[in-house]
Amino acid sequence: MRGARIKWPDMSTRPAPRELTVIRRERVTPSLQRVTVGGAGLDGFPSEQQGGYLKLFLGEDGKGRPIVRTYTIRHQRADELDIDFALHGDDAVGPATQWSLRAEPGETIAVGGPGAAKPLPNAHDFYLIAGDMTALPAIAVNLAALPENARGVAAIEVQNEADRLDLDKPDGVEIRWLVNREPGSQPDLLADELRSVALPQGNIAGWAACEFSSMRNLRALLRDDLGLRGPSLYISSYWKAGLVEDDHKIAKREDAEAQAA
Ligand SMILES: Cc1cc2nc3c(=O)[nH]c(=O)nc-3n(C[C@H](O)[C@H](O)[C@H](O)COP(=O)(O)OP(=O)(O)OC[C@H]3O[C@@H](n4cnc5c(N)ncnc54)[C@H](O)[C@@H]3O)c2cc1C
Repeated sequence: MRGARIKWPDMSTRPAPRELTVIRRERVTPSLQRVTVGGAGLDGFPSEQQGGYLKLFLGEDGKGRPIVRTYTIRHQRADELDIDFALHGDDAVGPATQWSLRAEPGETIAVGGPGAAKPLPNAHDFYLIAGDMTALPAIAVNLAALPENARGVAAIEVQNEADRLDLDKPDGVEIRWLVNREPGSQPDLLADELRSVALPQGNIAGWAACEFSSMRNLRALLRDDLGLRGPSLYISSYWKAGLVEDDHKIAKREDAEAQAA
C-alpha cells in the first residue's frame, strides 16, 4: 500500500517481501476482481509460478501486527502477475477484498512468496475436483495443465450465473457450475455434486479447496468414502465463514491436529 508503514514479521527464515506495483485492476465477472501487479520489484521472481500462492501485506491491524492475506497467482507473464479476488458480498468484506476494489495503478504493495502450487497429480484415470471462487484461480491453472486425454468432473461454486468462466480444459473434463449467492452458507453443495458423479473403474484423484465446512464434507467423501490418499488427494480449506484469515488458520491447525490424533 502506498506509504503504509509495515512492521515486518520475522524474516530470518523467509525471503523479504517484494514491493510490487499495481499495474491495473479490472472486474473479470460480477464477483471476481483482478489486480495485476509487477514492476521492478518482480525482478528475480521465479518463473512458472502460476497456481502458487502469494502473501499480501495490507498494513497493520492497530496492534502493530501485519495484516496478511493469501492469494493465488492466476497468470504469470514476464513482468506481471494477475491475482483474482473473490468478492464476498456486502456484509463480509475483508482488507484484501477492499484493497482489490480500490488499488490504483502506481501504488505499491508488499508481497511475500511464492509458495508452491498444488497441481493435479499425473497418471490418474479420472479427476474429481471441487472448489469455490477462492479456488477458481488454482483450478483454472490446474485444468489448463492437464493432458488432452484427461477425464473428470470439476464442481465449482460461484455466486452468480455470470461468474462462470470459459476455462481452458480437456474435453473429457466436465465443469459443473453451482450457484450459491451466499458463500459459506451451503457446506454440502460441492460434496453432494461430486457424490452424484458416476465414477469409472480406475485410478481416481481428488483435488478440493474451499470454505472450511465445505472442505470437511468433501474430505468425508474423497478420503473417507472413496479412500483417496497420498498423492491422489489434495484437500485444503481456503477460508472459514465468520473468521478472518488469522483465525481461520488457527481453526485449520486445530482440525489438522484432531485428524492426526
Ligand atoms: C493457498 C490459498 C490460496 C488462496 N487463493 C485465493 C485466491 O486466489 N482468490 C481468493 O479470492 N481467495 C483466495 N484464498 C482465500 C483468501 O485468502 C481468503 O478468502 C481471505 O480470508 C480473504 O481475505 P479478506 O481480507 O478479504 O477477508 P478476511 O479479513 O480474512 O475475512 C473477513 C470476513 O470475510 C469472510 N470471508 C473471507 N473470504 C470469503 C469469501 N471468499 N467469501 C465470503 N466470505 C469470505 C470471512 O469469513 C470473514 O467473516 C486463498 C487461500 C489460501 C489458503
